[in-house]
Amino acid sequence: MDDLFEEEKQQQKTLIEAGLDEWGITQLYQRDIVMKKVDEAHEHVKKNWQLEKAQRIKPSLWWQQVAQAQAQTTSTEQSDANANTPKLSNLSTDGKAWFIHPVAMIDYFNIETTLWHEPLKNPQRTLYNSVEIEKKVNGAFGFVRNGGAKSHAGLDIFADINTPCYACLDAKVVGYITEVKDRDGKGIGYGNVLILKVKGEDLRNSRNDTVLEFPKNGEIEQAEDFNINAEHFYLRYCHLKDKRADLKVGDKVKAGDLIGYTGDTGNAEDVVNPHLHFEIAMNPRYNRSTVYDPQTNKLGYKINPALFVNLQAIDKEKQKQKEVLNRRKNEK
Ligand SMILES: [Zn+2]
Repeated sequence: MDDLFEEEKQQQKTLIEAGLDEWGITQLYQRDIVMKKVDEAHEHVKKNWQLEKAQRIKPSLWWQQVAQAQAQTTSTEQSDANANTPKLSNLSTDGKAWFIHPVAMIDYFNIETTLWHEPLKNPQRTLYNSVEIEKKVNGAFGFVRNGGAKSHAGLDIFADINTPCYACLDAKVVGYITEVKDRDGKGIGYGNVLILKVKGEDLRNSRNDTVLEFPKNGEIEQAEDFNINAEHFYLRYCHLKDKRADLKVGDKVKAGDLIGYTGDTGNAEDVVNPHLHFEIAMNPRYNRSTVYDPQTNKLGYKINPALFVNLQAIDKEKQKQKEVLNRRKNEK
């Protein structure tokens, strides 16, 4: 960084020297005064670098603002006063970019880079329901089933049994609930569920620019009681075949770490639209609300995961029952 400051200073000095020559200022002592001023100005710039970065450069890195600032720039000579307060409008008055900005830009984008890793490779919605009728909306979040009469509190991402699942963000494993069966030995509920605790800020930074796909068919952004400003959130991976064998409750994982494998445990047993039921909630468990009707309560303290999972195009062939069953033969 120091080298860059030095380089910029020398460039400015060269320009100023040329200016002094032009104006016929040849007296050494006069030139020294000017050069001293340049040194002082650059010391000032260096000292204020952090402040500069935080207060002026970073917010100015939006192109619209860059353009506006450029438009305001006049072609008048720069005075000493603004020589030591480099503004964005200095960007190209002399036809060259102020060196600070690209550097700050790199910093800026590094800071803003999202941690988000998809919960599984090539995430796509489940296309079919359990009897191979096209019902893409069934896997969405909100009042999306039975014509709005039934809610669905997660996102169903198509996944053959045994598809690797990954931590979407840096997280702590806070729970692994194993499948409960009814008296007839049938799986109920969400089956094996792995729960990761993540930082609120990390999730907020991972919000994508998805526009809801089925707003007219009951898909909603979030449940009534959900609050996006919470300190922590919980990612819930449901119907898993199993977690990664060595993973324990209490372990920390990084975004992108393998955490388990999809399955059809719980009430998804033997479905021909195998999927990861993925949830983002405010509590590790017990996310039902109590103050609304049962279908609203079910959505409870959850948000639509499609606002974070970057869903890809649906591969119709891959999701066909025949294909699914063929592949499953090799898995079970
Ligand atoms: Zn589901």
